[in-house]
Amino acid sequence: MTILHPDGYQDSFITIRYLRQMLPEYEKLLKSAVEKKKENRSFFEKLKKIPGRDLDALFNDLHEEAFEKVDCLKCANCCKTTGPLLKNKDIDRLSEQLRVKPANFVSEHLRIDEDNDYVFKKMPCPFLKDDNYCSVYSARPNACREYPHTDQRNIRSILPITYLNSMICPAVALIVEELKGSVNPLGQR
Ligand code: SF4
Ligand code: SF4
Repeated sequence: MTILHPDGYQDSFITIRYLRQMLPEYEKLLKSAVEKKKENRSFFEKLKKIPGRDLDALFNDLHEEAFEKVDCLKCANCCKTTGPLLKNKDIDRLSEQLRVKPANFVSEHLRIDEDNDYVFKKMPCPFLKDDNYCSVYSARPNACREYPHTDQRNIRSILPITYLNSMICPAVALIVEELKGSVNPLGQR
């Protein structure tokens, strides 16, 4: 599974910096997740006790519900703050769309992080437009397609990153709040 690089998660102020550009209700969800850090960290510890398939089902169901309520085009916080890891296939696809050589694309837009992965040199993403649309949408990196990963299998393996995403993505914040209302400390609904 491709997951986003944790660079952008290091400080919650990174999230807060862009809050004014998103809907107030999304801002409220993220601020609340930051305020409930301790409570949520402890809740995520409890989630580890839930059998993998059950945990996947819980998250996958709530993912659909959350994205019926949250509009990415009124948010784009992931594109402004965290950014994706880019694999060679992503680089080839983007280079083709932009009609540049992969080597030129890499030198212009990417850097190698401490885990030896390609990431964008700068955030917000250079391909994010002012209206929150992605200018390379059809060729966007896989990690962008999959973010915030809450509709995928093996959620347990990404619980730590999902906890961090609850302070970046309003949809994840919503999912976590819904989960807290439906899952008891023993991990049973
Ligand atoms: S995936 Fe989450 S953070 Fe990204 S734009 Fe959609 S709601 Fe916002
Ligand atoms: S490539 Fe597109 S979807 Fe991915 S971070 Fe940039 S603007 Fe967002």
